[in-house]
Amino acid sequence: MLGDAKGFATDYGRGLLGPLTESLDRFGVVTQHEPWDAVGSQVAGQPTWVVMADDLSPEHLDGLVDNLQPVSAVIGIGGGTAMDTAKWLHWRWQTPLYQLPSLPSVNACFTRMTALRDRGGVRYEGDAEPERVLVDFDLFAAAPPELVRGGIGDVLSCHTARFDWELAVAAGHDPGWDDEAAAMSLTYLDELAELAPQLAAGADIGVQRLMECHRDIGWRCHDLGHARFEEGSEHFFAYSFEAVTGRTIMHGELVALGVQVMSTLQGNDPERARSIIEASGMRHRLDELDVTWDEVERSLVALPVFVEGQGLWYSAANGLAVGEAELTAVHRALDW
Ligand SMILES: [Zn+2]
Repeated sequence: MLGDAKGFATDYGRGLLGPLTESLDRFGVVTQHEPWDAVGSQVAGQPTWVVMADDLSPEHLDGLVDNLQPVSAVIGIGGGTAMDTAKWLHWRWQTPLYQLPSLPSVNACFTRMTALRDRGGVRYEGDAEPERVLVDFDLFAAAPPELVRGGIGDVLSCHTARFDWELAVAAGHDPGWDDEAAAMSLTYLDELAELAPQLAAGADIGVQRLMECHRDIGWRCHDLGHARFEEGSEHFFAYSFEAVTGRTIMHGELVALGVQVMSTLQGNDPERARSIIEASGMRHRLDELDVTWDEVERSLVALPVFVEGQGLWYSAANGLAVGEAELTAVHRALDW
């Protein structure tokens, strides 16, 4: 178990929404349909408003900032889109924030910035710090198991991100190497390998250990001022996929796909990533993910130009040759 995870104050348990809302006066809820159906009835009193989060464009978010009634607390309940929308309102209004993630699919409840979808790319802005994060095992139990397992993607990304960071430093790019953060990349992966079977079995402890990884990673990104130990070409592949196809799939699953693709091209122990994916029981086959090989190929071919155009950190994607041999290797690596 991760020894002394740092980060936002976090409670683990069941039935956490009732006591929270009893203690609040005028609060608004940012949520999504499934998690709201699962726990909405636990709310004590009447929310001032309930907003369904579905759009992370800055225009939409600022429309909410301008038009919603003032409240004394914002509660986010749901996946990444709900967390990020709640963070934006909290930051723009400077109103206390409480976050109840419904899936460990993204680390959005433990990061400070909102991932805005802007002009065909992703842009991070804002500085949110919740009063508390409440991890309610009932919410996770109500979620489809495959989406819970998909939560390993944003920790598994350490595998390819650390490699990219080392590559970038060797090529003279900032930010510089940090021994502790780089060592923690490996610690998170070891922790992931241990918790993966617990997550596959649907055990609360698997969820808790995974969320503690996300919590510590979120803190470390803020402390370090960057996320190079956790975010690299696997994420850039994911963003390229979104730009090329005009659609997305669950973030953790898309990032894990990116880890498989990029670790293969990095020559960076793709078997390790695969064994963790396998132990977690997460979906990984392209047909399970509802992704076609053609989409993977087009995302990969576009990747070198995409990372330059978006000004993303230097990684194995820069100057990447994507020819017949590379495509064949990736296709083979995904076929298991
Ligand atoms: Zn991510």
